[in-house]
Amino acid sequence: MREALLDDIRARILICVKCPLHRSRTHAVPGEGSCDAEVMFVGEAPGQHEDAQGRPFVGAAGQLLNQMLEGIGLRRADVFITNVVKCRPQGNRDPNPGEVETCTEEYLFAQIALIEPKIVCALGRFAMGVLIDPHLSITAAHGTVYRKSGILHLPIIHPAAVLHSERNRLLLEHDFQKLKAVLKGEA
Ligand code: URA
Repeated sequence: MREALLDDIRARILICVKCPLHRSRTHAVPGEGSCDAEVMFVGEAPGQHEDAQGRPFVGAAGQLLNQMLEGIGLRRADVFITNVVKCRPQGNRDPNPGEVETCTEEYLFAQIALIEPKIVCALGRFAMGVLIDPHLSITAAHGTVYRKSGILHLPIIHPAAVLHSERNRLLLEHDFQKLKAVLKGEA
């Protein structure tokens, strides 16, 4: 039943024309993973590779996300990975407030409500601002667990930040250790 409802959201995303982002997309990127996932990862928006393939986090940042998952004993198939908006903004600009509102109200919040994960990991500043609090600084807030609408939320350094500066790798690893501890009931 939940799987069918999640598939229905996916089908609606694939043909969505509710905001202007659909005009420049190659593929909408609904997200992928288990409907029984204990962990959801939410990034900002599909990038070039994701737009080309219709799958989330398949570029260099995605490879790093896979490595981090493996590092705490998880596989992509165990979790659910998606983005705040499901279509790529041209030039990778930040999605605008109208695009975010439409896409979250139509799709993201429904995906979270159906999956009912134990924890939602917001990957980077943008997703953290939408899911937790726009006034938080990712530098200060990453690795801290927040409770919102009865669900745990964890802001995590965006894997792309490690690609820009290796110094962020330790911070990302630290955030994944926090996630592991939360899943084991130790944090
Ligand atoms: N960055 C994101 O925020 N999302 C993706 O799907 C890929 C890169």
